[in-house]
Amino acid sequence: MGSVGAKEVPVLLSPEGLRIDGRHLEELRSIRIVAGALHGADGSAFVEWGANKVMAAVYGPREVHPRHLQQNNKAIVQCRYNMAAFSVDERKRPGLDRRSQEISKVISEAFESVIFAEEFPRTSIDIYIEVLQANAGTRCAGVVAASVALADAGIPMVDLLPAVAVGKVGGAIALDLKKEEDNYGEADLPMALVPQSGRLVLLQMEGHMTREELAKALDLGVTGCRAIYEKMKQALRDRYASGGGAA
Ligand code: UDP
Repeated sequence: MGSVGAKEVPVLLSPEGLRIDGRHLEELRSIRIVAGALHGADGSAFVEWGANKVMAAVYGPREVHPRHLQQNNKAIVQCRYNMAAFSVDERKRPGLDRRSQEISKVISEAFESVIFAEEFPRTSIDIYIEVLQANAGTRCAGVVAASVALADAGIPMVDLLPAVAVGKVGGAIALDLKKEEDNYGEADLPMALVPQSGRLVLLQMEGHMTREELAKALDLGVTGCRAIYEKMKQALRDRYASGGGAA
């Protein structure tokens, strides 16, 4: 542990260039994706990503609630991201706080840009993301889970949406931050990519980095997204090879 003022902060990068959990800068945490993890939903997926555990369920296209949100020329995409009270070390107050509302909004917008919504006028496509265990990068894990759940529900989309957070830790650009890196690092930059076109449909940033570092971070994030994309496709192949995922 190093110390900054009165606060003890962990050493995020060793002299050998290894991170707090022994990973290299360009290394992802382990990821497991199960498509079709729930019986009740039209589509679902469970993602374990490092110490994150995230479930996504998709319903629709179905009737719009509340009715006044209905659009005559396309489906609306509504996402609710929620963190369970037991998902973090210090119990989180249940319910939708401002952070959850913001994340729900940016995820809805990301999916609006890849779903063929005009094929289902006057309907709603509802995405529920429940974070059961959180260790940084939960919005990205949520996008990955929701994306596989949408595909599992048969919702037509331009492409799946892999997502990952890159950032700056101990002065270096690193892929897929874990909690200590997110908390004590210099910057955090979650992103979601449309692999076919290379378009970024979710991009946020907290902290500071130079333009050169930003360019490097974006490149690293795109490479990470492409690796995650392969795991997402494999999860869907496994689902249909075995005829089901839900236990
Ligand atoms: N976190 C927490 N309590 C909260 C919100 C977040 O402990 O009320 C933790 C949690 O581990 C989360 C991490 O801080 O994954 C980073 O949160 P951030 O807002 O950056 O979103 P995320 O990285 O999960 O997308």
